[in-house]
Amino acid sequence: MKSPVVLTGGTGYLGSNILKQLLERGYTVHLTSRNPDKSKNKGWIKELVKEHGDKLKFFSGDLMVDGSFDEAMKGATGLIHAASPFKIDKIKDAKKELIDPAVEGTRNVLTSADKAGTIEKVVLTSSAAAVYGDAVDIKEHDETVFSEKHWNTSSSIAHQPYSYSKVSAEREAWALNKGKSWKLITINPGFIVGPAVAERSDSTSIQLIIGMLNGRFKSGVPDLHFGMVDVRDVAKAHILALESETAEGRHICVNEPMSMLDIANTLEKEVGDKYPKTPKKTLPKWLTYLVGPFMADFTWRFLRNNLGIPVYFDNSKIKASLGIEFTSIDKSLKDHAEQLEEDGLL
Ligand code: NAP
Repeated sequence: MKSPVVLTGGTGYLGSNILKQLLERGYTVHLTSRNPDKSKNKGWIKELVKEHGDKLKFFSGDLMVDGSFDEAMKGATGLIHAASPFKIDKIKDAKKELIDPAVEGTRNVLTSADKAGTIEKVVLTSSAAAVYGDAVDIKEHDETVFSEKHWNTSSSIAHQPYSYSKVSAEREAWALNKGKSWKLITINPGFIVGPAVAERSDSTSIQLIIGMLNGRFKSGVPDLHFGMVDVRDVAKAHILALESETAEGRHICVNEPMSMLDIANTLEKEVGDKYPKTPKKTLPKWLTYLVGPFMADFTWRFLRNNLGIPVYFDNSKIKASLGIEFTSIDKSLKDHAEQLEEDGLL
């Protein structure tokens, strides 16, 4: 892939890892953010500028402002669209906070890409949440593992709005891709963990690990299960997808399934001596129903459809088509805890 490459969301948890790897691979990057002047002054961005000089160029881009990505797209050949809010609790207005930035934002970014006329490849950060909504959804299928052929049909604005924002945005991207000269590839990560490059903590990924270590779950964790993946592997998958001449379609990006207790046990093994409040047990079901709505806005419908139900994923496509070799989640969690400690976030 020739430079420059446009990256949206490069100021976030996953996006900052993509940005670092793009620059390390020699790309010139058009980084968009809502406030480029503020971004330029962040310590971690200054470090990247020191190392890579004018290969990093700053542009303004707001998902909710029509045409605001036009300038960044000029002359670019590749686009990685990673910007989208990742929030699962304290949501007051799901349409405004999640659905509109995801769906209208995707439309807005892709319309700017069309206008530029030079974009050959688009890599969209979708999610495993576009593949399934609730763990129980697997019972609707003949298979016992989720794969690229599955689509989330159970989420809505009222039930799992973040997942609904992701499936709606991915559908919008495929619809807009019809008849266009640019190729679209989606990366569909599970729950991402591992060290951040950006010094911020608003992503749900970071909040969960902070919560595990600082005592938020000290009386126990809900019996919830996710597909887990390292942030560095997800970033690499985006870049390999941009460069691949043969990769097509959707790519589930999950290393292995884990329960919240598995995550807690791994943190306990790796860094538990420093963080004695790391959870040691699963909360009984009845207690989860009682405290769930206060713990993380878990509704009873969400708990009924997810509690105690493991999820499994077929990750063979991404290994074969992009050659991804997954980092062990033990290492991801250890490195993540160390980075949070170094950045004073614990
Ligand atoms: P994050 O740290 O909160 O980053 C979100 C990014 O989106 C930030 O760069 C933010 O830019 C940008 N953004 C949000 N609203 C915007 C708006 N209105 N206009 C322009 N930019 C906006 O979250 P993350 O965890 O890295 O998530 C990044 C992507 O990965 C999202 O698409 C998410 O759905 C996807 N994903 C994440 C996970 C996970 O476990 N973390 C799993 C699967 C998929 P600002 O600097 O302007 O705030």
